[in-house]
Amino acid sequence: MTMTRIRAWAALGEKQKLESVVYDAGPLDPEEVEIAVEFCGLCHSDLSILNNDWGVSQYPVILGHEAVGRITAVGDQVKGLRVGQRVGVGWTSASCMHCDQCMTGNQHLCRQAVATIIGHRGGFAEKVRSHWAWAVPLPDSLDISSAGPLLCGGVTVFAPFATYGVKPTHRVGVVGIGGLGHLALQFANAWGCEVTAFSSNPSKVEEVRKLGAHRVVSSRDRDGILKAANSLDFLLVTVNVPLDWSAYLQTLKPNGRMHFVGAVLEPVPVGAPDLISGQKSISGSPTGSPAAISSMLDFASRHHIAPQVEHFVMSKVNDAIAHLAAGKARYRVVLDADFT
Ligand SMILES: [Zn+2]
Ligand SMILES: [Zn+2]
Repeated sequence: MTMTRIRAWAALGEKQKLESVVYDAGPLDPEEVEIAVEFCGLCHSDLSILNNDWGVSQYPVILGHEAVGRITAVGDQVKGLRVGQRVGVGWTSASCMHCDQCMTGNQHLCRQAVATIIGHRGGFAEKVRSHWAWAVPLPDSLDISSAGPLLCGGVTVFAPFATYGVKPTHRVGVVGIGGLGHLALQFANAWGCEVTAFSSNPSKVEEVRKLGAHRVVSSRDRDGILKAANSLDFLLVTVNVPLDWSAYLQTLKPNGRMHFVGAVLEPVPVGAPDLISGQKSISGSPTGSPAAISSMLDFASRHHIAPQVEHFVMSKVNDAIAHLAAGKARYRVVLDADFT
């Protein structure tokens, strides 16, 4: 029997502090690669899984699904990757590769997709494994120390631009300027759109403009929101708290779309007439396919789009989690692997 001992940070139960563990990863699957983690982003979804907010967590859990590092081993059936190559692994680490979704390039919608931190060991570790298709090569020009958050947060806000045909002539709104929103502003601006940021924090206005917003309005009060009435083609919602959704619907032009990537758990109350009269849509999406991740990384590298990150060494992961949970992250946290 092959033993592969991997050091990692694990939570043994719901809402527990992470502790140092060593696990036996067993033999590498023929279609898997093993990656030595250099950096791993800390995403809000790591908190949701730690706290079992979605009721799908499995413990012990090794969090971390924005991992960047070099391939150290490849299985016999791995295609297109080699040992030493630098890759990233995001929210998904495997999919079946033969269902309709997988065969049509929507592997992130595969019903058998494996989330990197649910029933699979994540990237707050020396090494992480994934199916070869989900280990996406990083462009050489990308700054790897800040790239982690692109792999989940980045593709989550980027993929809808292609999926829903957002055009450079469109006016785009971004609700919530945090980990996801600060990336969405950069992508929307580089895409060529006029960008409106809806922010709860007026003190951030200058910062938000620098990220790519042409206009900043209040996200909290109805009067503030309605300053953007009838002006937007596409409104990307990145928050996970309930807001005045009927006011936000009024910011859309006819044929406009309000699109959720933030996991707002409360129902969104909308009267059908509010959709019917302007032929409006409401939709949502998770992350993206390996091809979407790859094109997002290429776009980010060409347009010099990078997450603004704060670094913690991985052994301070509990401090990093407390920092994020307190809403203090500006705008994303990256853990630097420090296993020695
Ligand atoms: Zn994430
Ligand atoms: Zn599939």
